[in-house]
Amino acid sequence: MTNKMKEAVIVVDYQNDFANPETGSLYVNSWEKIAESINEIVYETKKRGWIIISSRELHPAGHISFASNFIWKEPITDAFARWEAPTEKNFITLDEINSGKIQIAPKADFTMEELKAYIESQENKMDAVWPDHCVENTFWAEFYKDFDSKMVDIEIKKGFESNSHPYSAFGWKTLDEKKTTLDIIKDYWIKIVKVVGLATEYCDIATAIDAKKYGFEVEFIKKATAWVDPSATIEALNKMRENWIKIVE
Ligand SMILES: [Zn+2]
Repeated sequence: MTNKMKEAVIVVDYQNDFANPETGSLYVNSWEKIAESINEIVYETKKRGWIIISSRELHPAGHISFASNFIWKEPITDAFARWEAPTEKNFITLDEINSGKIQIAPKADFTMEELKAYIESQENKMDAVWPDHCVENTFWAEFYKDFDSKMVDIEIKKGFESNSHPYSAFGWKTLDEKKTTLDIIKDYWIKIVKVVGLATEYCDIATAIDAKKYGFEVEFIKKATAWVDPSATIEALNKMRENWIKIVE
């Protein structure tokens, strides 16, 4: 441990299911192309002696975010693929839970009470459902090959419990589960957190806003990130600016 450390880059979820154009279940157009910009900022930061943190989703197969763990639900990405607006099939809402309309599939590894508590914890009392993705101990959960993951100093895993789907890389744990992201950042006396990786209006913004909330200076490095939906991204960028997060082009 040293008190000389001042900056950290957090590389958010740059995994095969997101960035691999051949096999990613949540791959969106051109997400593999930001690898070069991620590496660039990682090398530059590393050269100056600061640290690289990476988060990965490592979901159990019975995870709460998978459409396959519900009866009559469909991954939101299926709607995107058809260029259609998402429908109630693509979300779980508190109203549906309260009216007894939600059915959990047999392979699910969470209870209706846990589902209710999770959806209640969400800002809009609802959450999207996704295709199975980043299942622990599979190729799809590994880093995408073009990211130079040898440079990572500390790995954070998120979403490893079946009953929640955290978007932010904060509050989650090192692989040995001994420390949280926040512990690490405090250990290294970090003042500036730079956010790169996927995706802008989901995990990147959640990570950036949490970092700000914990009192760090936060930079969102736009060229080393990518989005799902361009209009939601404009909103996300505005929200980050309102929260005094510096957007670096
Ligand atoms: Zn996930």
